[in-house]
Amino acid sequence: MGYRLHTLSPERNSPTGQIADREFVASYDDRDAVLDFVDGVDVVTFEFENVPALVSEIAESRGVPVRPSSRILHTAQDRLREKAVLSQAGLPVTPYRMVEEASDLYDAVDEIGFPAILKTSVFGYDGKGQLLLESKSQLGAARQIADGQPCVLEAFVEFSSELSLVAARGTDGSFAAYPLVENRHENHILDITIAPAPVESVLVQGARDLAQKLFELLDVVGVLCIEYFLLPDIQESPDAPNSVDISSDRFLINEIAPRPHNSGHWTIEGAATSQFEQQLRAVCGLKLGSTEQLCPAVMLNLLGDLWDEGEPNWPALYNYPAVNLHLYGKQEPRRGRKMGHLTVTGSSTEAALETGLAARAALRRS
Ligand code: AMP
Repeated sequence: MGYRLHTLSPERNSPTGQIADREFVASYDDRDAVLDFVDGVDVVTFEFENVPALVSEIAESRGVPVRPSSRILHTAQDRLREKAVLSQAGLPVTPYRMVEEASDLYDAVDEIGFPAILKTSVFGYDGKGQLLLESKSQLGAARQIADGQPCVLEAFVEFSSELSLVAARGTDGSFAAYPLVENRHENHILDITIAPAPVESVLVQGARDLAQKLFELLDVVGVLCIEYFLLPDIQESPDAPNSVDISSDRFLINEIAPRPHNSGHWTIEGAATSQFEQQLRAVCGLKLGSTEQLCPAVMLNLLGDLWDEGEPNWPALYNYPAVNLHLYGKQEPRRGRKMGHLTVTGSSTEAALETGLAARAALRRS
C-alpha cells in the first residue's frame, strides 16, 4: 500500500520486525526509546493488547494519533474493566463476579454457582490463568490463583457454539463487518475457524447489531474482534416457558480484541479486503475496503506441537494446491504457541475443512 512501517517490541527479530522498515527493540516502558519511535511515525497502532499505557500517553503527548485509542486498549487489557464497560452499556456479557482478593472467592462462588471459570483479570489469553471450578474441593487451587491478583469468576456457559465477528470502523465513522464465523477450540486455544458460520441470517444480523453498538460506544477506529458464545435456542426446548425471539438475545460477549484477530486470518485469501489491509485503511484514515467474502474458507492453526518430531513435512503441502501456508517467523516452536496457520478455500466449508484437516495431518512427522 506504499506505507513504511516501524515496529517497537522488546523482542529482537520479531515477526513484524522481520518485515518492518525499521525495528526498535526496547522495553515498552523505556521512555527515551518510545519517544524516538513515536517521533518517527504518523500514526501508531498495536497488534497485541498488553502494551503499557505509557506508549499511548507519549504518542498522544507528541500529537501522534493512536488508533484504536488508548482508552480501548486500557479497557481490553483487563477482563473486569471490559465486562464492566460492556455491561453498563447494556451489552450482554457472561454472568460474572469480581474477585479482588482471594477471600472474595467464597461469596462469588455462592452467587455464580458451579461450574464456574476463574480467570485472572490481566495477562490471560488462550486459557492461560484460568481454572474450571466444578466443586468446593477446588477452592484451594482457586485461592492460589486469586492470591495477590484480581480475578473474575464467570459462570460456565453451555453454549451451542463459539462465534466471532471481525469488523472495522474508519476515521469517518463508517462501519464494515466481515461475515460471522464459527470457532472451534482445543484446550482453550483456537484451532479452526469456519467462514461463514453455519447459522441463520437473523443471527448474523444480531451479531452485527451488537458489534455496531460496541464500536460506537467505544468510538473504535481500526479492526476489532468480538468473541461470542451462542446460547442454545430455547424455543427448541419443549419446556421453555418464554421463547427468545430477539436474535441478539442469544449472544454473550466472551471478550473483545481491539486488533486483527486469529479468527480473521481467513480474510487474506477469502475476502475482498484482508483484515490487515482493513486495519491499515482504518488507522491511516482511508475509506474502508469491501468485506465481501469471495468463497467459503476454513483456517486451521499450526501450533508449536507440530514441531514435536522436528521440522514439519512442508513438501507434503504440494499435494494440496488449495491450501495456503502462513508461517509467522517465530523463532522457537513451543507447545501451544501459534506458529502459523493454513487457509483453505473451496466450494463449501465442509470440503475446505476436509482438505485442511488432511493437509495438516500430512505435515506431522510421526
Ligand atoms: P478466553 O481466554 O476467555 O477467550 O477463553 C478461552 C476459551 O475457554 C473460550 O474460547 C471458551 O472455549 C472457553 N471458555 C472461556 N470462558 C468460558 C465460559 N464462561 N464458559 C464456557 N467456556 C468458556
